[in-house]
Parts: sequence; structure tokens; C-alpha cells
Amino acid sequence: MVVNNSFKSIANAGFNMESKVSDVFANNSWRWPAAWRDLYPVLIQLDQMSFDTHRPDKLVWRQGDQIHDFSTSRAWDSIRHRELEVGSSRIVWFGQCIPRHAFLMWLIMRRKLLTQDKILSWDFSRRKNMDMMCCLLCHANHDSHSHLFFECKYSAQVWHMVRCKVGMASVQAKWDDIVNWLLLRSKSKSAADYITRLGVAASAYFIWQERNARLFKNQLRPPEILSELIIQQVRYKLMGARLKNCDNVRRLLREWEIEGTELHDDGG
Ligand SMILES: [Zn+2]
Repeated sequence: MVVNNSFKSIANAGFNMESKVSDVFANNSWRWPAAWRDLYPVLIQLDQMSFDTHRPDKLVWRQGDQIHDFSTSRAWDSIRHRELEVGSSRIVWFGQCIPRHAFLMWLIMRRKLLTQDKILSWDFSRRKNMDMMCCLLCHANHDSHSHLFFECKYSAQVWHMVRCKVGMASVQAKWDDIVNWLLLRSKSKSAADYITRLGVAASAYFIWQERNARLFKNQLRPPEILSELIIQQVRYKLMGARLKNCDNVRRLLREWEIEGTELHDDGG
């Protein structure tokens, strides 16, 4: 289903499986529809690339810091060792998740975002320029996965405003602490734990979006606004979610000031 939808969006945008990079990238910009950036935030990372238009396309495979010729056996070999464990998958791809948030969570869990520390370790030719870069949220250090989620001063402020609302008041602004907390409850089907998973994924998504908005659009929002947006997003999701008809759920919905949601005896 997901694959079919992807092929459909590729075809709707006027591309096909034979399209070359030069069909997608012209006049120094990508020609894919703007909506794809929201759906697949990973595309924003490609904005910084530069191309040698005289060289033909070549399929390669990056494994760690090394680039190799592509082969299915090499690709399979690197994927099978890096798949998320069952517990981690449960806190990323849970029932009634927000797909674009889950996709970003999956990238974070696998440390796949193109953060400044990674660019520095890969691309020595750009190191000179990168030395002038810093985390755009707090203007200190380079950004990295652990810095952005959520040790950065800005991110920590956002997290501290969101964590009480999603039932994680005692959890510090550290990714490993947050993930461990979620992993301990990964089998839970309670509405409270559903809310915590939504809250963590939404927080990560909006922080990454803010970081990219500052980098590419020069748009700047204070932590109070971001935390409001995160809580609002979780609230909207809860309003449309299929939830179990029980005292706990009714209490939680009252706390979130949600009324009139139809509850189900078999929901959850
Ligand atoms: Zn920072």
C-alpha cells in the first residue's frame, strides 16, 4: 500500500522509475512537489548538495563513512544488521501513529539525519565552511542527534513544556532516557502510553522542522510557540483516534479538554 502510494506520487509528479537525477534537479533546485517535503522531511537534507552536471549518474551505496559500488548483497548486508529491534519498532511504528512523525523517529533511532557533526565527519572539503556553522537553535556547538533531541538549550525548553502534558514529567531532556522510558512501556496498549509516544514523536518532528526552517527559510519561532504546536498536534490526533470506552480514557480526554469523541468497546 505504502509502496503503491509512493509510485503513484512519483507518477503524478511526472517522474517514473527511469527518471534520472537531471530530470529531478534543474537550475540548481529540486523539481519535486512542495508537499513531498512535508511528507518526507529527509528531502530537505538534499538542498545542500552540489552536483557535477558533466558526470553520468551512478548508483552507489554508502555504508558508514565509505562509499561503494552498489550491489544487492552489500545493501542487504548493511540493512539486515541495522533494522530496529522489536521493542524499538513498537515505539516508532505504533497503531494510530502520525506517519510523518513515525518516519522521522525511525531516522532518529537509526541516527540517519544529516546533522552537522555527520557532515563534518564525512566531507572534509566542506569542513572550512562548516567550522563557521553552529546549532541554529541555541547557537552553541554543532548540532547532532543527541544535541537536538533534546539536550540543546532550546530543545530542552520545548521538552520541559511538553513532557508534563504527555505524562513524562520526570523524564529528562535526553534521548536515551526518553527512549528507555518508552521501551519499558513498549507493550502497553493504554491510552496514556499512546499519548506519550505521540508526544515524543511530535516533539522530535517539530524540533527538526524548526531546525530546518531556520537553516533554509530563516524562519524563527520561540520555544513556547513550538511546544504549543506540539501539544495541539497531539490533541488533534486524539480527537480523531479510535479509543477504548473506559474510565481512564474518559479522564484523559477531559484533561485534554476533548469532548464528543466517540469511544469504542473494542478500541485502544
Ligand atoms: Zn542547540
